[in-house]
Amino acid sequence: MGHVVGLRCRECAHMYAAEAIHVCEFCFGPLEVAYDHDAQRRAVTRETIAAGPPNMWRYADLLPVSSESPVDLGTGLTPLTLAGRLAAEIGLGEVWVKDDTRNPTGSFKDRVVGVALTKARELGFNVVACASTGNLANSVAAHAARAGMESFVFVPHDLEAVKLITTAVFGGHLVAVDGSYDDVNRLCAELASEFATWAFVNVNIRPYYAEGSKTLAFEVAEQLGWQLPDHVVVPIASGSQLTQIDKGFRELTELGLVDGDHEVRISGAQAQGCSPVATAFADGADHVRPVKPATIAKSLAIGNPADGWYALEAVRHSGGAIAAVTDEEIIEGIRLLARTEGIFAETAGGVTVATLVKLADAGIVRPDERVVIYITGNGLKTVEALAGAVGPSATIPPTLEAVAELLDRDGMLRAARR
Ligand SMILES: *Cc1c(COP(=O)(O)O)cnc(C)c1O
Ligand SMILES: [Zn+2]
Repeated sequence: MGHVVGLRCRECAHMYAAEAIHVCEFCFGPLEVAYDHDAQRRAVTRETIAAGPPNMWRYADLLPVSSESPVDLGTGLTPLTLAGRLAAEIGLGEVWVKDDTRNPTGSFKDRVVGVALTKARELGFNVVACASTGNLANSVAAHAARAGMESFVFVPHDLEAVKLITTAVFGGHLVAVDGSYDDVNRLCAELASEFATWAFVNVNIRPYYAEGSKTLAFEVAEQLGWQLPDHVVVPIASGSQLTQIDKGFRELTELGLVDGDHEVRISGAQAQGCSPVATAFADGADHVRPVKPATIAKSLAIGNPADGWYALEAVRHSGGAIAAVTDEEIIEGIRLLARTEGIFAETAGGVTVATLVKLADAGIVRPDERVVIYITGNGLKTVEALAGAVGPSATIPPTLEAVAELLDRDGMLRAARR
């Protein structure tokens, strides 16, 4: 397991030991994990993966951990569902839903946190911390409880009530900060240099954390019979997930694990109320300009995305696009996926579905493509977003006549009786 040779600067390629660091001393570029690909090629085959556990740790040889027993709640190998009714409704051919609503704490963040906490424990940390828009908070608190580690989770004070409760229940320290996520993130960057004994999963442990998202690419390829999809649609907050899905598909190709070697087109999804990367894409800009978020998609509300530039590059390089959708379209997206496929996504999922619709209408996602959309969070976490939009279709007394009257009003009474 492992096969890590160190951390490499993404800008100047300077190498560092695999420790709790994330920024290059020479150029301030972000660090990423570098592997011995020859060792991986010798160790990993489709068969060794298939013989692994039925969760994300079947790809441990491609992740930056060496523990025999990772910090895990049973994350990954979530369903990849063929979404025929959704595809038909929006005029596409083959659409699959990668359903990460099914992870232990209800979002894809369990993947990145599993890797981050496993690595933090290997590095000797007992305290873990993070800045979160909600889902990371849930996942860090739960995994810390599982591992018997202490946790400090910092969130913006105006998070969805459910996300506060479902974090606090795990018994760590949950600190609400009077400010936006970007304020919380800046605070955590300061804390990370002040409190060197804390492992901040998305600051000093970020290079390892990020790698967990590659499993979203690995699982899709394996579930498609070791084939690459043609086009994937991925939501963007910090841009890390999208960047790592791209990296994951590339690693599979380099390691000879997939049939063929075609480029996977990657498209990004943002909410219009927080769309710095979509704006940069539309403008053909060479940098991502920070914004002040105002959207119901709070899990994606990062106004100054750390990996925004890399996500932009990955999308452009792959021939994809990035679109942004309104809050109304997000709610429509949640309802469309629920109505056609029986999957209840949180607002981030609504962003992804609505973006798929928009890109299909524009002819960017095409009917001849095998498409995968990443549904990254569970709808039960953001029920507030649907308040007023859905509810009982009628309130009636408990009588046969009342139901008959209701059906008659909708022209369904005769059919119901026969
Ligand atoms: C965090 C999050 C994302 C985006 O993650 P980034 O790697 O920061 O771009 C997407 N969906 C959900 C539900 C999330 O919680
Ligand atoms: Zn550098």
